[in-house]
Amino acid sequence: MLEEVIQLDKKYYMNTFGERLPVCFEKGEGLKLFDDKGKTYYDFLGGIAVNALGHGHKEFIAALKNQLDKVIHTSSLYYIENQAKLAAKLAENTCAERVFFANSGAEANEGAFKIAKIYYHKKGLDKYEIITLDKSFHGRTLATVAATGQEKYQKPYRPLVPGFKQVEPNNFEALEAAVTDKTAAVMIELVQGESGVHPMDKEYVQKIRKLCDEKDIILIFDEVQTGMGRTGHLFAYQMYGIEPDIFTSAKALGGGIPIGAVCAGKKVANAFEPGDHGTTFGGNPFATAAGLAVFDIFEKEKLVSNAEVMGKYFEEKLMAVKKKHSDKITDIRRAGLLIGIQICDEKAKAVFNKLFDDGFLTSLCGGNTLRIAPPLIISKDDVDLFAEEIDKVLEEI
Ligand SMILES: *Cc1c(COP(=O)(O)O)cnc(C)c1O
Repeated sequence: MLEEVIQLDKKYYMNTFGERLPVCFEKGEGLKLFDDKGKTYYDFLGGIAVNALGHGHKEFIAALKNQLDKVIHTSSLYYIENQAKLAAKLAENTCAERVFFANSGAEANEGAFKIAKIYYHKKGLDKYEIITLDKSFHGRTLATVAATGQEKYQKPYRPLVPGFKQVEPNNFEALEAAVTDKTAAVMIELVQGESGVHPMDKEYVQKIRKLCDEKDIILIFDEVQTGMGRTGHLFAYQMYGIEPDIFTSAKALGGGIPIGAVCAGKKVANAFEPGDHGTTFGGNPFATAAGLAVFDIFEKEKLVSNAEVMGKYFEEKLMAVKKKHSDKITDIRRAGLLIGIQICDEKAKAVFNKLFDDGFLTSLCGGNTLRIAPPLIISKDDVDLFAEEIDKVLEEI
């Protein structure tokens, strides 16, 4: 089966992903994925921080099937029960007062930019610039590419959407210097995911909040990856002791069903008025049923606190491995269950490949860092399994 899929892909699918890892999964259960030959893989990446509930979660699947039997899509012309209830769930558990649903992380971020712009437009102020960070990742649409501080993503698409500029992360003076009277918003990831799991300092983030208050600037947190329990808090901002004006969510929000959310706090909750923004698919009955089921299961299984507990345990285990292989593991960075294991440059790719061959899924980001973002249902036994495996791999390589 795999060979046939590869051939079809090579011929008909746009070559955006190049050589993919040579596997095609047929079925999943919990942390496990099975390929067409019955080989078992352990999913320590969770579909890039998406599959918070793991694979084939019984209650989740039952909720999805239940909604499929009722109605999948109606359109934004009509009221949608699940959409209203999921918006309420997000608002009740965060600093958001109002929510808008999109279909992806990038699209949620686009919504955030539009809110920032329209807020000042309606006040008659000429504020439209958005400051983001180097090494950030905000998505693949044209505006989110302009926001993404990585040359490789921007280069082929110049001229970029105007108004965006990047500054060095964790450098408050650089950010302060970039602010002008045209600055509408600052958008950051609290833990930079795609570039190698780099958490922002608490003091830095608090200073940005203060600066934004003083200069009337909208503070946006891109929590597409860090949101929905990943960091051991429902949203990562909750560990920084401050609140953003807008945060976005996506990846884990639908447990694998595509959905994104723009969540706005008091300052900008009413910036959008009828006609200012819209969507065909966003927040449809099916996608929002998925979001509601994710919330339900999070509460029942206490997955947010599990992320914190298991994250700590994971770090302890990894620190022991690092101690043994201090020449090969150069750093470990973590927020909850978003973990970066930095490997010395020459070995990183080989370690990643060997893990994959042995049936352990991770991703290599920022060139030399293994990203671990497992389902939040993970147990100590799973962590032990990974720690033993990486110890063995580092021994061999
Ligand atoms: C994944 C990611 C995005 C993009 O989400 P898509 O659903 O792929 O559009 C944006 N921001 C961050 C921080 C992400 O990790």
